[in-house]
Amino acid sequence: MAARGIPEDILMNTKLVNDLETVAKDAALIHGVLMRTNESPNSSEMVTYAPFTLFPSPVSKAVFLQALAVQTHFNLLVDKVSQDSVFLKEALASTIAVDDFTGRLFSIYQQIQKEGRSQSIVLGLNRSDYMLDQKEDRISSLKQIEINTIAASFGGLSSRTPDVHRHILRVAGRLEESQRVLDNNSAAGLARGIEKAWELYGSERAVVMFLVEEAQRNIFDHRYIENELWKRNIPTIRRRFENVCMTASLDQDKRLFVDGQEVAVVYFRNGYMPQNYTSERSWEARLLMERSLAVKCPDISTHLAGTKKVQQELARHGVLERFFPQQPQVVEQIRATFTGLYTLDMGPEGDQTVEMALSQPDQFVLKPQREGGGNNVYGSDICQVLERVKDSNERTAYILMDRIRPSPVHNYLLRRDSPLKLTSCVSELGVFGAYVRQGKDMVMNECVGHLLRTKSIEHTDGGVAAGVSVLDNPLLV
Ligand code: ADP
Ligand code: MG
Repeated sequence: MAARGIPEDILMNTKLVNDLETVAKDAALIHGVLMRTNESPNSSEMVTYAPFTLFPSPVSKAVFLQALAVQTHFNLLVDKVSQDSVFLKEALASTIAVDDFTGRLFSIYQQIQKEGRSQSIVLGLNRSDYMLDQKEDRISSLKQIEINTIAASFGGLSSRTPDVHRHILRVAGRLEESQRVLDNNSAAGLARGIEKAWELYGSERAVVMFLVEEAQRNIFDHRYIENELWKRNIPTIRRRFENVCMTASLDQDKRLFVDGQEVAVVYFRNGYMPQNYTSERSWEARLLMERSLAVKCPDISTHLAGTKKVQQELARHGVLERFFPQQPQVVEQIRATFTGLYTLDMGPEGDQTVEMALSQPDQFVLKPQREGGGNNVYGSDICQVLERVKDSNERTAYILMDRIRPSPVHNYLLRRDSPLKLTSCVSELGVFGAYVRQGKDMVMNECVGHLLRTKSIEHTDGGVAAGVSVLDNPLLV
């Protein structure tokens, strides 16, 4: 018999599901699927479970394997884009003219270009996100939502969720399904990337600095990676922009010191949203780190390579070939995951995009250059926004994308203080990539794990942090 998802009779068994709810929440606490609370995001005195699904969700095995297989190509693509200043300049020219945040990042990039990089070691830890588009013929196809090149989260917690789902399924009497829940250890893989960069930096005393947010609700996700590093005798510290502003300096060799400690690697878990830069001094701190000899994850050019504008430009005819000449199969594998992406630059092509979006707004998503969930525009709101900006270059702050439509499945979303309810859900699959380059040599290029997040179909947008998606595991079918 072909493998299947959780049968409807289990999903509809109210008594069983109610019993499983308590079992599930306790299992999440036992296995460390944890988050701090909204009320006290900077204290671990009282913590709760990170939101998750009661059951794993079905994902096509072929599509899952396809996503894993293309990851090392995406790692290379991001890395190649980050090194191509002509491409980055052209791709972002219209965007930086109207989007202040991307403009500021770009001016740091230009400054570093002018001064010359002080560090030839590059560390990339990214997550490529996908949804399974459901065609009329019922065959689902893997379509990329975006690639996150900065602060890609949940590599830690997703290493702990498989044991939770296995336990729930055993208690539910579904031994066969419980054995099908996949192992996942992104935390160790991400740590291996950091370890490699730290080793190449070559100073045993130097630390890995996690650059963290003001409010640290998701600290446990970081802690799993920190712990993996400590196990390898690599010291880690956690600092905010503010701490860097107050205590950071470069010595004559441009080595970065924070609180008197030499920093080998700066791992950004913050710095991807305008509001992360609370003052001019945060920007000065970012520039100081970029100028330093520390390995930056990501460096400013890799950060820019992850913008939505770059994603749209990569989907243009012939652009992948520029990065992978002589490798048509690689181009084919990457391109197969692209859905329609359209420019809103001024000119006839952008005018055509506007017209197309206005005539069928439900077929598209309008995206500004923002990260972190909750910024995209859907449906009739697209018309509102476009009517306002369509005749000015303000429109070039956005890109347009085909709306991906996965077919919904039933599940229960377990979230603090929210009642148990059978919910129609869609999932988003993320795949973690880790790579390290030294000069021209790729010394590591791996796919290190996955993440499944699931949300109610009532929500168009928004991640786990935004309180919309919850953690999940794929049950391959
Ligand atoms: P962010 O950087 O804010 O995470 P994303 O591009 O990942 O931006 O979009 C946020 C969310 O919006 C996604 O997690 C997904 O749920 C939804 N979304 C984004 N693009 C599409 C699309 N093309 N089709 C359907 N849903 C989308
Ligand atoms: Mg996203």
